[in-house]
Amino acid sequence: MPVRPETIERLANLPNVAISEGALLSRRTRFGIGGPADVFVEAADESSFTRALDVARTGGAPYTVIGGGTNLIVSDAGFRGIVLRFTGAAIGRESAVVHAQAGAELQALVDYSIAAGLRGLETMTGIPGSVGAAIYGNAGAYGHSINERVRAVRFFDGTSIRALSNAECEFRYRESVFKRRKDWIIFSAELTMDTAAPAELRNSADEIFQIRLARYPLDMKCAGSIFKNLLLAELPEAIRRQVPERVIREGKVPSAYFLEEVGAKGMQNGGIRVADYHANLIYNQGGGTARELCEIIDELKSRVRVRFGLELEEEVQYVGFSNGRV
Ligand SMILES: Cc1cc2nc3c(=O)[nH]c(=O)nc-3n(C[C@H](O)[C@H](O)[C@H](O)COP(=O)(O)OP(=O)(O)OC[C@H]3O[C@@H](n4cnc5c(N)ncnc54)[C@H](O)[C@@H]3O)c2cc1C
Repeated sequence: MPVRPETIERLANLPNVAISEGALLSRRTRFGIGGPADVFVEAADESSFTRALDVARTGGAPYTVIGGGTNLIVSDAGFRGIVLRFTGAAIGRESAVVHAQAGAELQALVDYSIAAGLRGLETMTGIPGSVGAAIYGNAGAYGHSINERVRAVRFFDGTSIRALSNAECEFRYRESVFKRRKDWIIFSAELTMDTAAPAELRNSADEIFQIRLARYPLDMKCAGSIFKNLLLAELPEAIRRQVPERVIREGKVPSAYFLEEVGAKGMQNGGIRVADYHANLIYNQGGGTARELCEIIDELKSRVRVRFGLELEEEVQYVGFSNGRV
């Protein structure tokens, strides 16, 4: 069902809510891909956001929530419905417990923690996107994920604002309960940190940032890794035997290993290309479309399935597709 004019009017009349019609989602995704959203809504305070969400839900049109758009593939047709973004971005602390709103940039939280002499997030330096999405997807790098520091998450369950403890968030590798409950919207999180010298934290963060910069130049239109890595323990014995020891890291086999084996590096489809130096990094060279991107993803999944009998799973999230991409 399209967004009804009365729904748009109700949204437009809400205080502290910014709306735009036909906003191009390509401007809101790092891939630079995606058609228009019928309505795009932003609110920075929880009550305005929940009111907007309520209008969206009761209006009957589809709706979805996005963050900074750094892990999204949005369809070329865009999103027929309402796209919402919570932009509250406050960060504060009491001793070694840091509070951050979901709309804060993860990098701002990392930098805040480092400056306060709080250890725990410095390996996440350079991961783009928001705190909310980092919790949703349990973001991480260099052997650590955000779940190691999360004490509690406040979220809106469609009726009220509740909090979940770390265990209740059901974190796993790039997974949380929020990935399965897409109707739950994260508002803020509390993270428990250790104390350390800021200079020491800054040095290790800067080192990581330089390594990341070489792999992901700041202007690269991509989503980081397209596919999740595979847990060694969950692979069939026959595959485990084929995987060289040197590629295994923290109990995981990089999906890049399988992708490289099937000739992914340097593959190209229109404006979309697989990096020559990293088989799990797909980027838009300019003018690429979601269709071209999805074709490459499907081709790579098919090659890995045929060769290894494995089903690669996307880390990236889809918006605006109706053909089973979620
Ligand atoms: C160059 C590059 C490098 C990257 N490197 C890494 C890496 O090292 N490690 C890693 O883990 N990721 C990495 N990523 C992926 C990306 O940075 C993370 O997935 C990030 O957490 C996405 O944040 P976002 O705000 O852009 O979310 P979006 O891409 O906008 O959304 C991602 C998902 O989060 C959901 N979401 C957003 N906000 C909320 C909320 N408030 N409540 C509930 N759900 C919400 C959305 O519905 C969507 O499904 C990389 C991406 C890029 C472009």
